[in-house]
Amino acid sequence: MALLELRGVVRQFQTGDASIAALRGIDLSIEAGEFVAIVGPSGCGKSTLLNLLGCLDRPSAGSYKVGGRDTSTLDAEALAALRREHFGFVFQRYHLLPQLDALDNVEVPGIYAGLPAKERKERATALLTRLGMAQRLSHRPSQLSGGQQQRVSVARSLMNGADVILADEPTGALDSESGKALLVLLRELNQQGHTVIVVTHDHNVASVADRTIEFHDGIIVKDTGRLQREAGEGALEEPPLRPQRAPSLGRFAGEFREAFTLALKSVLGNRMRSALTMLGVIIGTASVVTIMAVTQGARASIEKSVGKLVANSVDVWRGKGWGDDLAGSITTLTARDIQTLTQLPFVTGVSPQATTDMRVRHRHKDVKGQAIGAGANGVVINSVLLGAGRDLTRDDIVESRQVVVISDGLRSKLFEEGEEPLGQQILLGEVPFVIVGVSAKLTGGGIRFNWDGGETVWIPYTTALTRILGRDYFDGLHVHLTSDVPPAVAEKRVTELLERTHGKKDFNVQNNASQWQEFSNVTLVFSMVMGLIAAISLFVGGVGVMNIMLVAVAERTQEIGIRVAVGARPADIARQFLIEAVTLCVVGGVIGLSLAALLCFGVSLATDKIQPAISLASVLAAFGTCSAIGVIFGWLPARRAARLDPVVALARE
Ligand code: ADP
Ligand code: MG
Repeated sequence: MALLELRGVVRQFQTGDASIAALRGIDLSIEAGEFVAIVGPSGCGKSTLLNLLGCLDRPSAGSYKVGGRDTSTLDAEALAALRREHFGFVFQRYHLLPQLDALDNVEVPGIYAGLPAKERKERATALLTRLGMAQRLSHRPSQLSGGQQQRVSVARSLMNGADVILADEPTGALDSESGKALLVLLRELNQQGHTVIVVTHDHNVASVADRTIEFHDGIIVKDTGRLQREAGEGALEEPPLRPQRAPSLGRFAGEFREAFTLALKSVLGNRMRSALTMLGVIIGTASVVTIMAVTQGARASIEKSVGKLVANSVDVWRGKGWGDDLAGSITTLTARDIQTLTQLPFVTGVSPQATTDMRVRHRHKDVKGQAIGAGANGVVINSVLLGAGRDLTRDDIVESRQVVVISDGLRSKLFEEGEEPLGQQILLGEVPFVIVGVSAKLTGGGIRFNWDGGETVWIPYTTALTRILGRDYFDGLHVHLTSDVPPAVAEKRVTELLERTHGKKDFNVQNNASQWQEFSNVTLVFSMVMGLIAAISLFVGGVGVMNIMLVAVAERTQEIGIRVAVGARPADIARQFLIEAVTLCVVGGVIGLSLAALLCFGVSLATDKIQPAISLASVLAAFGTCSAIGVIFGWLPARRAARLDPVVALARE
């Protein structure tokens, strides 16, 4: 049985309306170990025949058997395996991958065959050394002469064993010296047991071969047969179809590394184009991450300063509402209400407040101020930031201490600039108090939480009632809630309960939680708008990446053809382009992240109120999104690349 056997093979090409028959009925058997030259004028169908023999192309009619197996029964995967394991291509124009050095080029078939990296490198080095290229391992094709490039391409064809070497005009682009050297090489390989089939119109080549097949216009016009030599004794009757290597992790890692390096190279090699391509991804990532960080920072700073105390509370004030003239005469808000309210399951505490206007004196200075008798954390509960010292504590309240926190406004009236107020004594009316804290000076305003306290002093409400006011009722109560209770529900329950105990509604309830909610809603809407912008720019970025990848597929059809010729499966090709798309997107994402970090740094310099925090979650989300975009938008180009006809791809010069 012949190693390669063609029966009645026809190959027609459809170009527009016309159909060209490149092969018009070929019957040909080639035994293992032969050295065959196929000669004939240009355009007579030699390359077409060679591509068929190498399973890069299929006949339009007739049958082609490799080792007795009909190739028409094999699927793309099996054909790729056949190419990979048994055929080695050598092309007239060498067809090396220009981005890779000699060693990497030789390794490519090994990658697709799943050879472990170490073995691959050793074998490629050995092959190149054997072909006299030991000094040129890390040279790129552009740094090599034609003869050297052709030797690299021979080494590549031998990488996976190559029972059959198929060479299409291998000496066509070489000077006569290099051409001769190549022939000697092919002869040697043939003597070592490789079947060699050379397409040529070089008579030197034909004279070296054992058998010459003359071609004309798609048919064989002369076949010398196996004239000079007998078939090698140990020649293979049937190519042992080597067990397919499972898609191993090693192969995947090798392909991934190669695709990733290639992708990085093309990104860096085309900086301008890559930057423009990635612009959408960069803007999208940068804006999402920055906005997330800034709003997080803003929330955190507000929560930190005014605390959950304000956020989760409702306030009860005496009188039916703001501006109730009779409010001043209502005396029903008392310690009893605190007890009643504390019994509600969602109430975590109640801080009373009693306010009065009074003279505040320090040495010879005498200022009109407002005194607020408050509970623990009374300053923060009034949504005022503390600047120095401390807030009122539980002990202050329980022990009715004569301690006071003064507002910054008051401080500036009572003290000289630079004078230390903490620890000093002031008089409220006639009662002495020690200053334990000063509120923060605030610039700007806006949200409710930015009140600087005016000219206010905060003192323990116990002290206020007994020493200053001489009464037992409050102006208002801050009711602190658990975080899981809906504010509206809490408001309703508090109202109902107090109405029952008071017998009438002589109070009004303010819902702080709903204000906090409002703030949350504003930031939420803000985030959503920015999210939308980000989504749009990510989409545009994805389209940009897809566009560039489609261009890349068009630009690199030849590369794809070469890869298929050395045994890449369609899935390998698709994966490579997918990895490139993902790499583009992820690199864009990294740039976007850096930009976001820079922006956040800028924000933190511009204002000390917000400390933007880029969370790990947002970084991971950004990477996830970018990879997903790469996969989604890289899919179409990858599929297009995988479906390219290798023959057409190789024909591109
Ligand atoms: P040779 O290698 O002997 O010079 P080819 O095998 O390349 O010739 O081409 C044989 C004929 O088939 C030519 O007429 C060529 O134009 C045609 N041909 C080859 N490949 C294609 C193709 N992919 N599409 C259309 N026509 C083709
Ligand atoms: Mg040709």
